[in-house]
Amino acid sequence: MRAFVTEMVLTELSNLKQFDIVFKKKGIQVERSLDTLYCPKCGSNNVEERAWVNPNTDEISYNDSVEEEDCWCGICEEHVELCTLSELWEMFGDIPVNNDDEIEEDFLNFPVGTSKIDVWHWFDERCPNNLHDDLMYPKNDAV
Ligand SMILES: [Zn+2]
Repeated sequence: MRAFVTEMVLTELSNLKQFDIVFKKKGIQVERSLDTLYCPKCGSNNVEERAWVNPNTDEISYNDSVEEEDCWCGICEEHVELCTLSELWEMFGDIPVNNDDEIEEDFLNFPVGTSKIDVWHWFDERCPNNLHDDLMYPKNDAV
C-alpha cells in the first residue's frame, strides 16, 4: 500500500514536471525566419493579428497598416505592437549594459542583471543562420 501511494505521488510529480515543461515551451514552433513576429514585451511568438476573412472563399486579407489594437500576445494577453527579430535587436541596442556585461534595464523576460550573452543566445536561437550573420553584421542589407 505504501509503495502504491509512493508510486502515485511520483507519477503526479512527473506529470507536474511535464506540465511545467509544456508551459515553458508555450511558444509556437515555426521555421526560423527573420519575418517572424514577436511580442516586444515578453518575446513570445505566440501572437495573433486581426485580419478579414471572406466567409465565401475563406480568403484572408490583411490590413495594410497594422495597428497595435489589431495585434495580440497570447502570453501577455494584451494588445502589443508586434516586432520582427531585427526590430527587437534594435530595441536591445538601446538597453544599457554595465561593465560586467549585465543589462541595466528589463528586456523582454530578462530581468535587470542578466548577462547580455544570455540575451544574445536568445536571439541566436531564433535566427535562421546565426546572430552574427543575421543581425549583428547582416551582409545583404537591402538599402
Ligand atoms: Zn507578450
